[in-house]
Amino acid sequence: MTTSTQTIDNAILDTIAATDPQVAQIVRAEAQRQEYTIELIASENHASPAVTVAAGTCMTNKYAEGYPGRRYYGGCAHHDQVEQLARDRAKELFGCKFANVQPHSGAQANTAAFMAMMEPGDTFLSLVLKDGGHLSHGMFLNFSGIFYKPVHYALHYDKNHPQHEQIDYDSVLAAAKEHKPKMILCGYSAYPRQIDFAKFREIADEVGATLMADIAHIAGLVAAGEHPSPFPHAHIVTTTTHKSLRGPRGGLIMTNDEELNKLINRNVFPGVQGGPLMHIITAKAVAFGEALKPEFKVYQQQVIKNAQALASAMTEHGFRITSGGTDNHLMLVDLTVKDADLTGKDAEKWLEDAGLITNKNGIPDDPRSPMVTSGLRLGTPATTTRGFKEPEMAMIAAWINRVIESKGDEGTITAVRAEVKSLCERFPLHH
Ligand SMILES: *Cc1c(COP(=O)(O)O)cnc(C)c1O
Repeated sequence: MTTSTQTIDNAILDTIAATDPQVAQIVRAEAQRQEYTIELIASENHASPAVTVAAGTCMTNKYAEGYPGRRYYGGCAHHDQVEQLARDRAKELFGCKFANVQPHSGAQANTAAFMAMMEPGDTFLSLVLKDGGHLSHGMFLNFSGIFYKPVHYALHYDKNHPQHEQIDYDSVLAAAKEHKPKMILCGYSAYPRQIDFAKFREIADEVGATLMADIAHIAGLVAAGEHPSPFPHAHIVTTTTHKSLRGPRGGLIMTNDEELNKLINRNVFPGVQGGPLMHIITAKAVAFGEALKPEFKVYQQQVIKNAQALASAMTEHGFRITSGGTDNHLMLVDLTVKDADLTGKDAEKWLEDAGLITNKNGIPDDPRSPMVTSGLRLGTPATTTRGFKEPEMAMIAAWINRVIESKGDEGTITAVRAEVKSLCERFPLHH
């Protein structure tokens, strides 16, 4: 390790290396990768040292099935305290009455939420995966598509429409009237615009459906008041804790409805999970504490400023940003306007070799398969954590353009990789 010789990772690595050099070597290599590459994957972030270390504590050693005050095992006093603290902080952060902090992940949270709101075989209405939805929103191989009946609303796909590639709320209403879903689901994995939760609730009320908001991607923005809140509109809100919220990998379910809360609790445990990951819940408490601080709002404001700076720089380099821009932490880049033969698959590979970590992603109405795609998804939560601001966003856009215009030329990739590394050295990670 160079710049970060005194990092917490090193102390942890030494402990692992004392008994298991093989695993320590793998983790050390990953720490180096994170240190010297630029993370542009919209769903990733760098959790703080306090969060990372909390997730590695002795809190992992306990079975705490049940909920605070009502456990199936003795010795849970401290686990009760930390879980209650995590719940209270989540409620304060999102301005709601009930929070379940036990879901192991976003998909687990969605599974429990579906079970709380629907019976197997019931119909729900969501955005399809290829348009920016998530696989837990009805993909045929996922529980949501196997045990429930998904129907979908659409985006506007009309270049001349002012809301081209944005949610078509008329189509939401039309599909809701046609299919009479039990539940309507909003919240996405690759959608760069604000979500109108009030409008979704209006539509849900019109057809007697419940409204679920999955804010996995935008949770940090919502917590900081930089994206409208799904409360009080959504009946149930799920999220991950590791994306823009910058906590440990995990899930969270919230509601204002006491009856629904009982169903959520029962469906998380014993419905879909056994013992909660108490070390992760400990780290969630720390992360929620960080998110309640004023610095977190400043951070989220910069996340949005950086996304807008990156989007406009990419546009200046001749790429097209779907829907014409971004309101949040991410954007979808249409590569084909630059070069009709360019694929997300190639671009992702070339950029990774240059130290710029992105993911290929379908663009709305993409004719290519999800393994190839015509687009790239870029997000700014991780780079903003690192301390990057607008000038660094301009540098990143210029590097992306150079690598892509070179069509993966080796010399270009090597040169860019060295420049990326030197920028990373100027902005060390504190992990
Ligand atoms: C990331 C994501 C999830 C799933 O989270 P995991 O922790 O990977 O299970 C669920 N919903 C949306 C919208 C997401 O973007």
